[in-house]
Amino acid sequence: MAMEVPGPSSPAVHNVMIANTSKDTKPELLVRRILRKGGFPGYRLHWRIDDEGGRYVCRPDITYPGRKLAVFVHGCFWHRCPRCALGLPKSNVDYWRQKFEKNVERDSRKEEALVVLGWTVHTIWECKLEGGASELLGILNIQNTEFETDDGMRQACDF
Ligand SMILES: [Zn+2]
Repeated sequence: MAMEVPGPSSPAVHNVMIANTSKDTKPELLVRRILRKGGFPGYRLHWRIDDEGGRYVCRPDITYPGRKLAVFVHGCFWHRCPRCALGLPKSNVDYWRQKFEKNVERDSRKEEALVVLGWTVHTIWECKLEGGASELLGILNIQNTEFETDDGMRQACDF
């Protein structure tokens, strides 16, 4: 049964809806800047990842394909950050509840699928951008060390 999409019921919700349609959100831009500054400019944006059977899995916000490292930058409102636990919009509560449940479900489905395919998945929350980005730099640096000490892996990873 198709659900009707309610119109934006308040300026605040309206702004959030508009912000969400943009691919280059402010948090994503900030993370990308930290990555470039940190010496890891080789990422791809919205890179399509397929499974072994060629079926579409997802397009993470930021991907390092050679490293099999996928990064999601999550807005706390849309992806239901457990730390912020933001309230639901006041009207059309059922609609929003279902929508958010689907968002969260989709997020965990993507992550599980990627992990099964051997990817490292790192999620950065909007409310912990700086911390999440420096954790990501840590992962990238550890990977570098592994590549440097393991020639076989370096070849396998197409560096
Ligand atoms: Zn949050």
